[in-house]
Amino acid sequence: MVKTGKQIGFGPRPPVVVVLGHVDHGKTTLLDKIRQTNIASSEPGGITQHVGACQINYKGQPITFIDTPGHKAFSQMRSRGARVADLAVLVVAVDEGVKPQTLESLKYIKKAGINYLVALNKIDISNTNIERVKKLLSQNGIMVEGYGGDIVAVPISAKTGKGIDELLEMISLLAQMAQLKGNSKDKLEGVILESRLDPRRGTLATVLVRNGSLKIGDEVWVEGLRAKIKAMIDDKGKMIKVALPSQPVGVLGFRTVPPVGGKVKRTEGEIPEEKPKAKKVEEPQKEEKKLRIILKADSLGTLEAIESSLPEKCQVVLSGVSDVNESDVLLANTTKAEIIAFDVKIPPLVKKLAEEKLVKIIQFKIIYELLEAVSKKITKFLKLTKEEEILGRAEIIAEFKIKNERIAGCQVKEGKIAKQNLIQLKRGEEILGTARIKSMKIGKNDVDEAKTGEEFGVVFSPKLDFAIGDMLASLRKIEEV
Ligand code: GDP
Repeated sequence: MVKTGKQIGFGPRPPVVVVLGHVDHGKTTLLDKIRQTNIASSEPGGITQHVGACQINYKGQPITFIDTPGHKAFSQMRSRGARVADLAVLVVAVDEGVKPQTLESLKYIKKAGINYLVALNKIDISNTNIERVKKLLSQNGIMVEGYGGDIVAVPISAKTGKGIDELLEMISLLAQMAQLKGNSKDKLEGVILESRLDPRRGTLATVLVRNGSLKIGDEVWVEGLRAKIKAMIDDKGKMIKVALPSQPVGVLGFRTVPPVGGKVKRTEGEIPEEKPKAKKVEEPQKEEKKLRIILKADSLGTLEAIESSLPEKCQVVLSGVSDVNESDVLLANTTKAEIIAFDVKIPPLVKKLAEEKLVKIIQFKIIYELLEAVSKKITKFLKLTKEEEILGRAEIIAEFKIKNERIAGCQVKEGKIAKQNLIQLKRGEEILGTARIKSMKIGKNDVDEAKTGEEFGVVFSPKLDFAIGDMLASLRKIEEV
């Protein structure tokens, strides 16, 4: 943590910056370069810890960069309504110019309503024409300076480091103009950037403190999940006691893995209203027109070959060259994606987590078999989404018997479960049956619906042979196909 003194109490808060842009335009290289050159070297060992974000020191000014490049992670946060970044850097490689994900990134930035600047990357490549790219940008609605707008465009080379100082200078300027305020004494506002199960340490979550502060011993809530903060580690791998506004920290203390993008709030006086309030997840079904997948492959070449051949109705939430890991499963769970593993391993712990989270992982060794399977899935999937809309999902976590009735004790995992809608019972991928809701209660009260995080009891008609761990989906039939 870079100490400025200004962060304690009222005052400016370091900007939180996200780096977006088309694949291969140099987001990772840029983040790496920034980190290498600007991490305070006074830290013993200088080893950085992967906590999903890092804080650098630019001329005494701390700047927080969200580590995960790409709009995918960003959109995931946004879909949970979390405010994460204050500023965005849109990376555009000058040898390629505007590409589909450049425009997609712009859409996200606009939706988030945050300021952005453009980093014109790869200027070290010879025969590139920066002015041509600027013109191209302005033709695509990115009105840069000199081309009818005031969006700052900084030519850089993430590879050589050229222009990065200017880029940081501009970020710092935009942050000053935005007058970002933070107060460590304010009510805690945090967001989960990453979360995973560590086989040795338990649940590890990265929290970005947006405002207020997070201290060891604090009790916090994330969408109905409680945690007592046992330990905190900063992005340099140092154990710390307090995290201040705009600071990312890894925390230990959650009993269950909290959802990425989940808002972190302090317990004090907030519990009664917290539960019903934390449910405003963006209607997930509206975004489900594409089959979402997480793609893991053994090499970059294979990955690119697969990605470029995937059908259009396929949305790659994340792709990477590695074995399938816990965070893939968690991401698949939150984004309702399936994991496709091409010639990579699935460690037993990951497999177990996937089973628990009902995340489907399919393995392939031949590309055309993979593509064929994906096409088939899409046909099936589009048919389903045309006929039925999923309003919410709940997990059966308990069972009660009253007289002859079997009551399922459930918790809503997302969206809502409404009494008027049809219920589908699933065990893993298997659909066990559908039924109507005969009665629905929260505590002792009859209710018509339950929202995310809420627990409720339900009796089905006709009876369903459910078991603890099964999932319920609330379905609405759509008449028009
Ligand atoms: P990302 O997909 O946007 O994260 O892109 P990467 O950072 O992985 O970069 C993609 C490729 O472009 C890699 O081979 C990088 O080495 C290369 N690259 C990134 N920045 C530059 C640059 O400034 N100049 C050149 N010549 N290559 C770059």
